[in-house]
Amino acid sequence: MVLAADRTLMSPYRGISLASFFGCAPALDFNRDHNSFWYYVLRNQVTPRVLFDFICNPIDHTNGVANYAPYGLRKVEAALLRDGYKQEDVVVSHPDHIEKFIGPETEVVGTYEMDPLGMGPVTMTFTYGRKQMSYDEFYNRELHMRINAAKARTGSKAKVIAGASGTWQYNYDPAKIEEYGLYGVVEGELGGIGPEIDGVGGRFFDAIIAGECDTANPFRKSQFKVEIKEFVRNDRTFHGRFIHYGYEPSVSEIPTIVNPSMHGMVEVMRGCGRGCKFCDVTLRPLRYYPVEKVQKEIEVNMKYGGLKNAWVHSDDIFVYGLNPRTTKNMQPNREALEELFKGIMATGIEHTNPTHGTLAGAIADERLIPNISKIIRASPDNHIGIQCGFETGSIRLIGKYADRKLAPYKPEEWHWVVKTAIKTLNENYWVPAFTLIMGLDNDETQEDSWETIRLLHELETEQPDSMFTTTPLTFVPIGLLEKSDFFDIGNTMDPGKLGVMYKTWQHNFKYGIKKFMGRVGRNNPIKDFFFTQLAATLGGVPLSAMEKFARRKGFEHEHAIEKIKAIYW
Ligand code: SF4
Repeated sequence: MVLAADRTLMSPYRGISLASFFGCAPALDFNRDHNSFWYYVLRNQVTPRVLFDFICNPIDHTNGVANYAPYGLRKVEAALLRDGYKQEDVVVSHPDHIEKFIGPETEVVGTYEMDPLGMGPVTMTFTYGRKQMSYDEFYNRELHMRINAAKARTGSKAKVIAGASGTWQYNYDPAKIEEYGLYGVVEGELGGIGPEIDGVGGRFFDAIIAGECDTANPFRKSQFKVEIKEFVRNDRTFHGRFIHYGYEPSVSEIPTIVNPSMHGMVEVMRGCGRGCKFCDVTLRPLRYYPVEKVQKEIEVNMKYGGLKNAWVHSDDIFVYGLNPRTTKNMQPNREALEELFKGIMATGIEHTNPTHGTLAGAIADERLIPNISKIIRASPDNHIGIQCGFETGSIRLIGKYADRKLAPYKPEEWHWVVKTAIKTLNENYWVPAFTLIMGLDNDETQEDSWETIRLLHELETEQPDSMFTTTPLTFVPIGLLEKSDFFDIGNTMDPGKLGVMYKTWQHNFKYGIKKFMGRVGRNNPIKDFFFTQLAATLGGVPLSAMEKFARRKGFEHEHAIEKIKAIYW
């Protein structure tokens, strides 16, 4: 059993927080004019590969075995070992050494894929809706080419299975199933989201090896429903074997990792009860890890990986320990959260931060953030990064698509919630990284966009020292909106949406990079200085590109940029 992930998912990114998003950067532009200056300098490369490979440095390995691996892959590994597979039968391979492990005895190669075809929201934004090839796609493709070459060279009949949260993308480009030689694509039953296969890891791999998934089984009683999908694209027909699994394991059925995860990641919960329509996490039931289970995983990372931090995976950390059905107004369970973070710090780690949390949850209990900050020793030398959904400044859109994200507050209070939460978080040394959705359900009007721009500008003028970053993402149809269309950034970018994109990058450049980036780093000062200078040098490039784009589009787009420069700068 060989488990693997591509380079973009197997890099420590030189310890720079948020650099893991760099995999979404554009790698190649196949449409570049061969007479252009850039073609002469870089050929088809967009982000120079030498720069990308420097920042996305490969993970350490021991004789080809990855010393750290994505958390989800570690869960599958742990499930196989729990379910009876021997350690010597399972390997988590380094992507550059996968050939070492593929041969006639290899039964299954399982690849962990979060954004295999570059269709995730961040990537779609950076590649103008996949008009360029992202590094995510570039390196995932390279991994599959290496697997295929190794199989051909050794005569291996190993079945290659693509799993994890990005496999829905193969539905939109089925030619890749054939090109990559995939035996199967694992999907959940709900909206195509990646299933929680770690509950039954051993049983699943047994079924693959035994050939139980070779043919479609609509009428057979089986845990794993096999569907042979047919796709017609440009007069060609493609087939793909999609294996569906829909059971969500209870916490006791979720295995505990046995080897170190990337970035010291550990999970504390699955699911989220807030019900945002554009999100697939919310389709899952909410479950929490008890503190002892979290501690065990941190101890694995410390003991076998020498890690001193715990990156706490949470969909909304502030719903940890509450029951969304019975808790009035989603009031956070402060006692449960305090106990969780005390338990995490009791392991002896030096730093922890949750991955995600809602702004409303952060301020719904005024003692919550100050108390947690004390427990996790947040300070001017120990800032806590957290990703929060800003989504939109439009009261109309937030009320229509994410009203419970605001609970216990009301949509009309959204601007107040954003401003108050940033103040509270910053005062306690937390730095939120915001994501916004452009073209939400293709329902965003220009007035909605300008409301977002105005809110960002109000934040800058009312709280000029506040620390936050903003990343616009294009709408991708998942969750309850999976039947909607993708937002087509290349063709439906009206002046308002261009304005949102321009304003967010301008904020990051003027405030994030130039003002506070150098102050919040926890790495060594030389490294922090180097990357701040690099960001300051490159940070203006997207702004110039957008100005150029506006000039090409015409007066209204140019006017939107000029208006931001004149009024909202
Ligand atoms: S709060 Fe976040 S994780 Fe929860 S449903 Fe909304 S977007 Fe999804």
